[in-house]
Amino acid sequence: MQRRIFTADHEAFRETVRTFLAKEVTPHHARWEEDGVVSRDAWLAAGRQGLLGLAVPEEYGGGGATDFRYSAVLTEEFTRAGASGLAIGLHNDIIGPYLTSLATDEQKRRWLPGFCTGETITAIAMTEPGAGSDLQGIRTAAEDRGDHWVLNGSKTFISNGILADLVIVVAKTTPEGGAKGLSLFVVERGAEGFERGRNLDKIGQKAQDTAELFFRDVRVPKENLLGELHGAFGHLMTNLAQERMNIAVAGIAAAEHLLEITTAYVKEREAFGRPLAKLQHIRFEIAEMATECAVTRTFLDRCIEDHARGELDAVHASMAKWWATELQKRVADRCLQLHGGYGYMTEYRVAKAFTDGRIQTIYGGTTEIMKEIIGRSLLS
Ligand SMILES: Cc1cc2nc3c(=O)[nH]c(=O)nc-3n(C[C@H](O)[C@H](O)[C@H](O)COP(=O)(O)OP(=O)(O)OC[C@H]3O[C@@H](n4cnc5c(N)ncnc54)[C@H](O)[C@@H]3O)c2cc1C
Repeated sequence: MQRRIFTADHEAFRETVRTFLAKEVTPHHARWEEDGVVSRDAWLAAGRQGLLGLAVPEEYGGGGATDFRYSAVLTEEFTRAGASGLAIGLHNDIIGPYLTSLATDEQKRRWLPGFCTGETITAIAMTEPGAGSDLQGIRTAAEDRGDHWVLNGSKTFISNGILADLVIVVAKTTPEGGAKGLSLFVVERGAEGFERGRNLDKIGQKAQDTAELFFRDVRVPKENLLGELHGAFGHLMTNLAQERMNIAVAGIAAAEHLLEITTAYVKEREAFGRPLAKLQHIRFEIAEMATECAVTRTFLDRCIEDHARGELDAVHASMAKWWATELQKRVADRCLQLHGGYGYMTEYRVAKAFTDGRIQTIYGGTTEIMKEIIGRSLLS
């Protein structure tokens, strides 16, 4: 089905992203996977190409385009290219909105120009060893010492954790914490007592640095509080819808791409004297996946459009997230099966898509938490 949500400007931007990926990302990705981290040069190249801070106001060096469809194009192209190391979607769509919507003018002047050039790589640290889905269980705490805060605690599974120059940290600012006692703090590279732990060894997304972070008596200036004191829970709830859309957009793009490469593979691969594509079982597999992708694509495009107009609610973002990522997981598994033994070999695109994509139903809120959000909205 013809997609109807993009204009010629979006398609021109798609070409820009493709050119960038072909030149600055694809040739280096295998090396980054071995290193467990991408090169900082790639971030700087993305900045020069205008791919960072798409929605950041132009006065701070951004693109000034709040239209989420540009973000969707970028995510789709990165997914198709298998560029799972360079976390521009996280930087632009997940962390960017915290800085553009919550930062004071002074904070914006300090942080946004580097955000857009790629000199300031960002991360957001919510998850802790003892608190993932249950954010109210966060134990990292910030204590008010008059003219500054003192931060203590640890975080885990933080994307961009090794490279990040600026980390938004969620911490308790009342002894109870919970929905009314959490705040956001910006901790910058070099702050005394801020240490990085291991670059975690994952089953996929090998070029993406995912790390533990430790905060031991870190002195955080008062001017690094982001948004309302004790207001983090509300800020997170507002911004998580876009995070979920970003992940959902990647989910359907991955499923469609897997289907495309697998369709080509079964036409070419022969068994019992004819191409696999001639077998009815194979045709049914492809037909079922194509149908599921087409139905999901229609819903996702509607969500992208609604979100671009500022009209998507948290419940529909949650529906998009769990549905598209569970579809991605099913399609990845079936496509790998259709590749036979070759599907298990890391040099095959389908194998990398299988392991890279497995996290999608977990981060940004698990499938189960998405269903909780949807169920609660319908039943309470
Ligand atoms: C590669 C990677 C990158 C990540 N990046 C970041 C990042 O940049 N920043 C960050 O803050 N975090 C990040 N995370 C953390 C991620 O968001 C969490 O792993 C996720 O929210 C789940 O939390 P958990 O791992 O503690 O699992 P748990 O919360 O312990 O969940 C375990 C299981 O129990 C289920 N469960 C939990 N509660 C319920 C419930 N109420 N009802 C039903 N089922 C439930 C879950 O769905 C899951 O299946 C990342 C994780 C990974 C692996």
